[in-house]
Amino acid sequence: MIRRLDHLSFHALFNIAADALLLVDAEGKILVSNPSAQAFLGYSPEEMQHMCVEQLIPERLRDRHVHYRQHYLAKPEKRTMGQGADLLALARDGRELPVDIGLSPIMVEGERYVLITFIDALERRRAQAALRESEERLRLAKRAAGLGVFDRDLLRDTVTLDARAREILGLEEDAVVTPEQLMAQVHPEDDALRRSALKQAMNPHGTGEYYLEYRNSQSSAPERWVAASGQVFFEDDEPVRIVGTLQDITERKAMKQAFRDHQADIDAALKRQAASQTASAMAHELNQPLAALSAYSEVALHELEKTACSDQLKRALQGCIEQSHRAGRTLHELLEYLHEGEPGLEAIDLNVLVRETLTLARAEGLIQFNSVLEPYLHLPLVQGNRLQLQKVIANLIRNGLEAMRDAGVENPTITIRTSQKGNKAMVTVQDSGPGFHPDTATRIFEPFFTTKSRGMGMGLSISRALVEAGGGLLWADPEAGPGATFHFTLPLAS
Ligand code: ADP
Repeated sequence: MIRRLDHLSFHALFNIAADALLLVDAEGKILVSNPSAQAFLGYSPEEMQHMCVEQLIPERLRDRHVHYRQHYLAKPEKRTMGQGADLLALARDGRELPVDIGLSPIMVEGERYVLITFIDALERRRAQAALRESEERLRLAKRAAGLGVFDRDLLRDTVTLDARAREILGLEEDAVVTPEQLMAQVHPEDDALRRSALKQAMNPHGTGEYYLEYRNSQSSAPERWVAASGQVFFEDDEPVRIVGTLQDITERKAMKQAFRDHQADIDAALKRQAASQTASAMAHELNQPLAALSAYSEVALHELEKTACSDQLKRALQGCIEQSHRAGRTLHELLEYLHEGEPGLEAIDLNVLVRETLTLARAEGLIQFNSVLEPYLHLPLVQGNRLQLQKVIANLIRNGLEAMRDAGVENPTITIRTSQKGNKAMVTVQDSGPGFHPDTATRIFEPFFTTKSRGMGMGLSISRALVEAGGGLLWADPEAGPGATFHFTLPLAS
């Protein structure tokens, strides 16, 4: 085969080459051109012969080219022309064609020649221009949306952040940052959510999409809400890289919160109004028969006083009068409470309250269950409303019992732990049931969201509202299984 190739002449190869080729002498005269060069530039072979290479260059660039050519001949070497500049060739019809040009010096019998290769660069330059444009558009869009970019290499365990991402995260411009440092900045209450979002995104059978809204706390900067949105890339089902954007959503969150607070205030006011109207109506209904009862009793007593009836009867009537007065006073107190309405706050021993609530839950008799109480014995008193807190704990226990009953769990167990986190007390309620369904886990705090045929879907949303109204937080911890785990915090009584 190689031997047969030996017979191929320079001319034959030159003529069949797909690239446009010219052979020129030291004066820049074209000695031979191949068909590809003739087709590309629009000349016949005869026309090309003895043309000067400068004629293939737009007129305005010719002088410079003569200079370059002489320079090249002084130091001939195999290289591309123009060192990355956008070169142009002039076709016979006057069109200026974008080209990449290769130069190869050849020595034959002491004479210097140069082989010139033209490669059509139109497509490459178009693609480059489109890429530049799209990068520019992306840069502008990123700037307009205030987006920062992160790129985490999971194999090397490194992370790269652009300037805006560093600004959002409160990091210095050129400090070296590790993924561990970034994770340490995630608020502890959002960390379970972060782990769960990452686990889902790294599943090679999923979409690889990653989205998380979290609080970023850094000692030197105020806490910010950050939305991280990214895509995981896989190699052989192994996650190798996550690239995405960061956005500071603190203002958006604050506005939403303000809106929710406002909405909650309105809801609470409406509920109070409805309750107080119902109670007023009932109070009026009851007031009249009570007044009549007291009046009749007084008349009867008055009449009896004139007779020599038994003291026992008189005492009974006296009792009737006192009790109807008492019922009237209670009704008025209730009305006053409904009109004023704010729940009273008191200092509460959470460990005692948890124990009492467990006893109540057992008495409710939903199912037989084991309870494990792990109290933190040095827990200071917390500030809150006893009835409301009892409602929250009872609701978490009841949800756990219902989940374990519906799943037919053996040895159903409720574990309740108390602990102290800085200036807050924390209660953890965990069951040994099936835990949260991944499809619905993010929705369980929505009002009216329920997976139970007879559920109202209000338990968790009301519980969260009660805890938050008292200055604490209530959240689910899907990672802490087995079963479902909820935590809530409360401020310590000062
Ligand atoms: P409801 O109990 O009326 O459904 P909730 O607001 O208390 O309303 O609960 C909403 C949903 O959250 C439930 O329907 C259930 O799907 C889920 N959930 C709550 N607690 C648990 C738990 N301990 N285990 C599993 N799922 C739970």
